[in-house]
Amino acid sequence: MSKSATPPTFAAMNLAPPLLKAVEDVGYEQPSPIQAEAIPALLEGHDLLGQAQTGTGKTAAFALPLLSRLDLSRREPQILVLTPTRELAIQVAEAFQTYARHLKDFHVMPIYGGQSYEVQLRQLRRGVHVVVGTPGRVMDHMRSGKLKLGGLQALVLDEADEMLRMGFIDDVEWVLEQIPATRQIALFSATMPKEIRKVADRHLRDPRVIKVAQKTATAETIRQRYWQVSGLHKLDALTRILEAEPYDAMLVFVRTKTSTVELAEKLEARGHACEALNGDIPQAQRERIVERLKQGKIDILVATDVVARGLDVQRISHVINYDIPTDVEAYIHRIGRTGRAGKLGDAILFVSPREKRLLYAIEKTIRQPIEPMQMPTAKDINLQRVLRFKQRIRDSLANERNELYYQLLTEVQQEESAEPLEIAAALAALLQGDEPLLLNEKEHTPRHDPAARRPPRDEQRPPRRSKTAGSDEVIPLKGHPEVEMQRFRIAVGYQHGVKPGNIVGAIANEAQLDSEYIGHIEIFEDYSTVDMPAGMPKETLFALRKARVCQQRLDIAPAGETPADGSRKTLSFKSKGKPGAKGKPGPKTRTAGKDKPKPASRAKPGTKPAAKKHVKKREKPRGA
Ligand code: AMP
Repeated sequence: MSKSATPPTFAAMNLAPPLLKAVEDVGYEQPSPIQAEAIPALLEGHDLLGQAQTGTGKTAAFALPLLSRLDLSRREPQILVLTPTRELAIQVAEAFQTYARHLKDFHVMPIYGGQSYEVQLRQLRRGVHVVVGTPGRVMDHMRSGKLKLGGLQALVLDEADEMLRMGFIDDVEWVLEQIPATRQIALFSATMPKEIRKVADRHLRDPRVIKVAQKTATAETIRQRYWQVSGLHKLDALTRILEAEPYDAMLVFVRTKTSTVELAEKLEARGHACEALNGDIPQAQRERIVERLKQGKIDILVATDVVARGLDVQRISHVINYDIPTDVEAYIHRIGRTGRAGKLGDAILFVSPREKRLLYAIEKTIRQPIEPMQMPTAKDINLQRVLRFKQRIRDSLANERNELYYQLLTEVQQEESAEPLEIAAALAALLQGDEPLLLNEKEHTPRHDPAARRPPRDEQRPPRRSKTAGSDEVIPLKGHPEVEMQRFRIAVGYQHGVKPGNIVGAIANEAQLDSEYIGHIEIFEDYSTVDMPAGMPKETLFALRKARVCQQRLDIAPAGETPADGSRKTLSFKSKGKPGAKGKPGPKTRTAGKDKPKPASRAKPGTKPAAKKHVKKREKPRGA
């Protein structure tokens, strides 16, 4: 990426005033690299080919400029965003809502498989400006004539490589062919496989190409770890780190100005000497704050990227990436605030499951793995607390004897006939106040320690790409090795032009099932079989019966074979309470399944273990 001398600002970008105001509200200080390049290009009406991962701020990179160009008086879809999954569709729709908060009468609608058609049609009838959806469902609504795109101005393909991986690329092409020729297209993809390049070549007109450059160096004096956010809130995790990690001074990075203040207040309330540092604070005051950190008057700074640039305080022993940075370069800048002047430093990155890709990108760029970190347990914390408490008493004992207190306590001892230790214990309780000294270890131990559950290294990598062309296709999808599988038959086969990826994509979205739970797929002449976890809820199977792939209803039904081997466990499904998943199974309930191991007695001798996950395209077998 080309770097200009003066850092870009949102204010200088010609965004419509209501959008600028929304950016101010959410507290973004500065455009992320992808935003700095994509926003002007999209505002000028160019097509765009952007190589960007989740976490880089790409949603705002397209939402802000496209919303700026929206004609609110026309209540018809003007922007369509295609996403690979329903979760992303919901997330992107929410982001649009946030950025459009000052646009009067604005309507955005997510469309995805698994949600009732009726609800979606009702919303469509009411009129929306922006539609965000998964390709299959969007296509259905276009075909039925309910989603009319005659007034479309812009189409965004978000995570195009994921759409390819999930088998949606033909659907995407179909949509691209239906939309008006005058539209603007933005295609975002973390990687650029040739299939995506082809789509870009065919449909994008003289696009601006954006790729965020990445630096490669990080200091060897920095120990880098990450914690996968799970089981504990980030704030609780941070307080545990503050208690259990020996540190001198700490720099905590968050994304927004607002978060610097909020987090600093929370940490202060928990007894830490902490201040916020952000771009709203006048320069002179910022310098005073940094000076206080240098002198040890405070130990923690909660900062945004902008203000921490160039910060050089040797005391900083730890950098915590509380919010993952928007790009690898920012990560490198951030952690470079520790390990200075030959000292050793620690960098800890909080990563939510959705942000894993950025973690991989960081590892790839810095050319070294980042170690997973075990969050200190309540027991570790208590041990530290006891040590510190004793130390305070020792320190106090080492000071000169305080005659007044000595005298007072002698009087108490005589008046109450109390043992000296009883009095000391009463004083300790007084000193501690309402906050208990120790955490309740049962209550504060996450049931599933995320680090302990970390899957083997190769399982954490992004799924390998499926090969979907030619005969004897092999799609290296993984059925889940620990889960009992059941074989299903679906009414779409070779003659309908189906590819394994189409099946995976449709099932993953309609059943809200993570693709790692979709096992062996075989494609026959007019039907296919697919292995999925045993015991899928009725509602899910019902939804899958109606789902369409290659314009065929899946009409899914058990195939009467059980592919699992004897050591599998049943996957338990939650039918309620998952966001956006009424009556559908939760997306991942692997650990819940572990709680209830069942002997998988349904395995038939001689059937193929589902661990062999490959897909074969076959001619009709005898007797099928
Ligand atoms: P995305 O890559 O679009 O999924 O965005 C990742 C996260 O970055 C979201 O939580 C956004 O709210 C946040 N974000 C986007 N742009 C900025 C920015 N310029 N400054 C700080 N945070 C941002």
